[in-house]
Amino acid sequence: MDDLQFGTRNKRGDWAPNAHLEVAPFWLRPFSILRVLRWVPEYLFPWNAFHMATALLYWFYVVPDVEVMKTLSWGWALWLYVVNAAAIFVMYGSVELFWYVRRKQGTRFKYNAKFPSEQPSDVFWFKSQNIDNFLRSFFISIPLWTLVEVLFLHAFAAGYVPWLSWSDNPWYLAALVLLAPAIHEVHFFAIHRLIHTPLLYKWVHSVHHNSVNPSPWSSLSMHPVEGFLYHAVAFWHLIIPSNPIIAMFQLHIAGFGAVNGHIGFDKLEVTEGTAIDSHAYAHYLHHKYFEVNYGGDGLIPLDKWFGYWHDGSKEGDAMMQARFEKKKARMNAKAART
Ligand SMILES: [Zn+2]
Ligand SMILES: [Zn+2]
Repeated sequence: MDDLQFGTRNKRGDWAPNAHLEVAPFWLRPFSILRVLRWVPEYLFPWNAFHMATALLYWFYVVPDVEVMKTLSWGWALWLYVVNAAAIFVMYGSVELFWYVRRKQGTRFKYNAKFPSEQPSDVFWFKSQNIDNFLRSFFISIPLWTLVEVLFLHAFAAGYVPWLSWSDNPWYLAALVLLAPAIHEVHFFAIHRLIHTPLLYKWVHSVHHNSVNPSPWSSLSMHPVEGFLYHAVAFWHLIIPSNPIIAMFQLHIAGFGAVNGHIGFDKLEVTEGTAIDSHAYAHYLHHKYFEVNYGGDGLIPLDKWFGYWHDGSKEGDAMMQARFEKKKARMNAKAART
């Protein structure tokens, strides 16, 4: 596909989309029902449908019997870890293999023309972004993902929290499924903004931001505090009356969905003429500029409401620069006072 029909490339070879990021259409005024209807398929497919499919696969083929989960034990916890790690290895690994190692698409639709493997840096373990990100994912974040999973499954199985059945509550549970991506955005925005406060940034979140030019393995490359808080989004289903399948869906939006922001390509070409939208641009801009787009794609546009939104346009850039100038002035004034 010709990526220059969809965007522009600068002198350095970095590609940027022509279309600017837009918040979900029900927030736009004047309200247009047609715009909302056009957006629904894109909301469901392919990503949310994929996360639901993996949640169901887990529920029917991976998750142990309820009787087993009534007792916490290493056996089923390790089993879940192995499946999670294998699934991430296959899913993230295939994007890595085809788009980053074999480079089947070259730099078409790639925001940053450079590949992380070409840029060794001292900030990473073994000076390699790939090795560092890979080790942190498999030995820190995926174990914490599994910990969250084991705890909520045990809570449901042991009867500590209500377990609503699909036959008695079909409409309520269906609504909760549709809301899960919104819960994810609000939770992610809240914890992410929190770990961008100066102390926590330095201590916790800088680990994730070492990858200024993210690739699939960067997705779950986190400090343990972040790795736990990020996956703990599934615990909302212990507070809201829910069902373990929806909690699993919520967890998969976080775990498997983390790759979306870190794919590095705007579109993944599948055949000559077809491509999947990665939805990576908002979070790519976050990795590039740090203090913009703390949330997701604008499903719940908290970034817009708090003034952090960067939609990729010149105006978005000007707003960000103005905010940075103000912040600098505030910090200089504070320094002068002390
Ligand atoms: Zn990130
Ligand atoms: Zn961040």
